[in-house]
Amino acid sequence: KNNYKICLIEGDGIGHEVIPAARIALEATGLPLEFVEARAGYELFEEVGTSVPDATVEAVTHTDATLFGAATSPTQKIPGFFGAIRYLRRKLDLFANVRPARHHPVPGSREGVDLVVVRENTEGLYVEQERTYLGGEIAIADTVITRRASARIGEYAARLAASRPRKSLHIAHKANVLPVTQGLFLSTARAEAAKHPEVTTQDIIIDNCAMQLVRAPERFDVIVTTNLFGDILSDLTAGLVGGLGIAASGNIGLEHAVFEPVHGSAPDIAGKGIANPAATIFSAAMMLEHLGEHAAAARLERAVDKVLAEGPRTPDLGGRATTREFAEAVARAF
Ligand code: NAD
Ligand code: MN
Repeated sequence: KNNYKICLIEGDGIGHEVIPAARIALEATGLPLEFVEARAGYELFEEVGTSVPDATVEAVTHTDATLFGAATSPTQKIPGFFGAIRYLRRKLDLFANVRPARHHPVPGSREGVDLVVVRENTEGLYVEQERTYLGGEIAIADTVITRRASARIGEYAARLAASRPRKSLHIAHKANVLPVTQGLFLSTARAEAAKHPEVTTQDIIIDNCAMQLVRAPERFDVIVTTNLFGDILSDLTAGLVGGLGIAASGNIGLEHAVFEPVHGSAPDIAGKGIANPAATIFSAAMMLEHLGEHAAAARLERAVDKVLAEGPRTPDLGGRATTREFAEAVARAF
């Protein structure tokens, strides 16, 4: 293709630092990228009363792919506020949250790990239906599991597994305690996986999955699970290979895709210029892969790994580099 339109959304906190850094790295690829900037997040909500304006939805839907920084979600309920990334996931039906974890040359990264957590991205507990009774003494949250969403995430994960050398799929669930909701997810995902006989599929109960991941993560290839379990499990797998500073993700739908680091807005370090942009640059590489630019994606990943190995590193990985210095080193290594 001779020109790609890329939507960049900084969002909140360190999003303002890691997105410009990722742009430096993307520009170094020499690909014909045209950037369109849009706004979203809690800071914007405080300014204008909405966390995702229509113009931002337009920008995401009228570009080839989006790179998102991070969004703050306050833990108390604020009238009229909705989480920006969760809104985009549901609004644009970005049903697959794809979170790879593979070994990187950084302290504490486990050898031999090369897995992907595929998290259902539109339902489960994230339908955000909560209420209280008896003046706040009892709080109830709904969880929604549909056959349709379970089938398409199951199919996505099975296809992904089929495309990988080991062709192994784990369906992680809690159907033993929640046979209705988790049971529907499990039986539906199993049926989809069965359509790919070349893939070896196993069920695994989510808590055991967490334990096995800590003990022997190299045994896993693709893991598919429901929304909240996938959220937690993918932070765990990020921790296995070097932490949130390097963990990338993609929110992928049939028509649109939004790539973002797994980490949040990191208010404790925001504004200091020391956030690690590697997670966002790896997310940018996933975006290039999604656009079909396989060679550039692979080169960009290798460039980040080279800088992670040789330095300069950011403080989260024991170094002294700034966000921008790291990105410039990646650009030179490309
Ligand atoms: P967080 O990921 O923002 O930070 C967790 C810890 O990791 C912090 O100590 C932070 O400094 C560190 N960290 C994270 N990213 C880093 C980076 N790139 N470089 C160096 N260190 C990094 O998670 P949190 O503190 O639980 O949440 C903060 C806010 O972010 C909350 O409002 C939360 O709702 C939001 N959040 C958003 C997303 C998202 O946008 N997808 C994801 C998680 C959390
Ligand atoms: Mn999370």
